[in-house]
Amino acid sequence: MSNLKIGFLGLGIMGQAMAANLVKGGFKVTVWNRTPERCAPLVALGAKQGKNPKAVIAHCDITIAMLADPAAALEVVMGEDGVLEGLEPGKGYIDMSTVDPDTCEYIAELFEEAGGRFLEAPVSGSKKPAQDGTLVILAAGDRTLFADAAPLFEVLGSKSLFLGQAGQGARMKLAANLVMGGMMAALSEGLAFAQATGLETAGLLDVLDSGAMSNPMFRLKGPLLTAGNFAPNFPLKHMQKDLRLALELAEEHDQPMPTTAAVNESFKRAKAMGLGDDDFSAVIETVRGKQR
Ligand code: NAP
Repeated sequence: MSNLKIGFLGLGIMGQAMAANLVKGGFKVTVWNRTPERCAPLVALGAKQGKNPKAVIAHCDITIAMLADPAAALEVVMGEDGVLEGLEPGKGYIDMSTVDPDTCEYIAELFEEAGGRFLEAPVSGSKKPAQDGTLVILAAGDRTLFADAAPLFEVLGSKSLFLGQAGQGARMKLAANLVMGGMMAALSEGLAFAQATGLETAGLLDVLDSGAMSNPMFRLKGPLLTAGNFAPNFPLKHMQKDLRLALELAEEHDQPMPTTAAVNESFKRAKAMGLGDDDFSAVIETVRGKQR
């Protein structure tokens, strides 16, 4: 049992599982979510429910956020009854959402001015690693907060990296996710190609799994893609957000991204087809034709 008082803002797919692990890990956790009903499962586990982000950060030693995107991250910090209003010197705030480096750097500046401590800590790993406490944590920002958060990161993840100044975590996360988006788009095309040309998709998955292209994501998602099961672990709209943020960052550096640009178009098309809240593997629907 730890005496640290922990706040948790944002109880979506990831936040639910992560906050639950902290409660089960013996931390005193106070949760808040924009849609308050989503706090109920955590309260049932033993968490307190905070009125707003201001009240949560005022009450807690370290507050974690796991929010949708840059707009949500900024609103929770700067909005009415937001984190900044409850901030006092020394308080720790860890944003584990996937955002762009500019957003991280801006929030870090706000915290520096206010005397608070800020760490960005986006994660690699989806719903299952969040439930199992095996996320890979890509932290950057205030090193003292990274040290103080070690007991939390031990519960949430299997590996925590400290990458330097705020912004470096977001850069690393976007680099990893653009690879993942490309892998999913390629797997989708491979499976659609197999179906269109009269091959067994299970046979293709077996071939892929037997050689150098074998990986846990293809193994997990392949059969679900074939079955058309797109229950969301990682919502497609968030994958498209990450591709967009990666492309914007690449643009700033004149870095060519021909493959990621094409992959982004597929994910945009999937969003336009109404698949944004499905799992990101639903991108296969953009290439699956009459051979379903
Ligand atoms: P999610 O299920 O869509 O949850 C999003 C959360 O953000 C919800 O709590 C939502 O509140 C909140 N939110 C959205 N807009 C808000 C606003 N303007 N103000 C306050 N709260 C707002 O997403 P998720 O899958 O948990 O992902 C969370 C973050 O982790 C994203 O940045 C995502 O890219 C990243 N991530 C996800 C995965 C994954 O596999 N799922 C893996 C790694 C990283 P409501 O309940 O009120 O809508």
